[in-house]
Amino acid sequence: MTFKSLGLSESLLETITQQNYTKPYPIQEAAIPAILRGSDVLGIAKTGSGKTAGFVLPILEWFQSKGAPRNRSIRVLVLVPTRELAVQIAVVFQTFGERLPRKVKTLAVYGGVSINPQMIGLQNVEILVATPGRLLDLLSHKALTIGETEILVLDEADKMLSMGFAEEMKDIFFLLPKKRQSILFSATLGDEIEAIHKSILRNPVKVEI
Ligand code: AMP
Repeated sequence: MTFKSLGLSESLLETITQQNYTKPYPIQEAAIPAILRGSDVLGIAKTGSGKTAGFVLPILEWFQSKGAPRNRSIRVLVLVPTRELAVQIAVVFQTFGERLPRKVKTLAVYGGVSINPQMIGLQNVEILVATPGRLLDLLSHKALTIGETEILVLDEADKMLSMGFAEEMKDIFFLLPKKRQSILFSATLGDEIEAIHKSILRNPVKVEI
């Protein structure tokens, strides 16, 4: 299988080649077409499987047919357990998005640092990669809105739960529109992940590597 056969467009394929991704990893073969179709996805995959590109590439492709940014309204929300992961994912969005005709501004926000620069940086951001606590802080400052968010990604959901973010996650889900696409990645599938996926995913395509 090739990245082209998964339904990605020419300008994205150029960057994929440039990054020396010669062929899609199994998780990408399964997740990319499902996400492009608009399906919810439950991915059971560990770091190193290529899961990040598995959601970054179809989301960037999805943006190519979208209109202008709506200020302070986040279109794609990626929730992650740690600062390191937030930064890493934002960099992947930026790298693959660089040469696309439709530019998309991505920002990583996380706790443990001053909130003010993050509030200023939110201007025209369309993809927000956030840790749950800091996202709630920013929402309480009315620095952004997630009431029109179209795609939700939970990455390393099991780690988010084991770090004690369950309540924050629930508060965030409550603020999101019901009608949206949701993608959940977890390294393991325990009872808690089952419960979350049953409450937030609709007829998910299950992708297990
Ligand atoms: P991840 O599991 O998303 O953290 O990705 C693990 C590593 O694999 C990262 O360094 C990616 O840049 C790399 N990678 C992801 N997909 C591919 C691919 N199709 N071909 C080559 N490298 C890849």
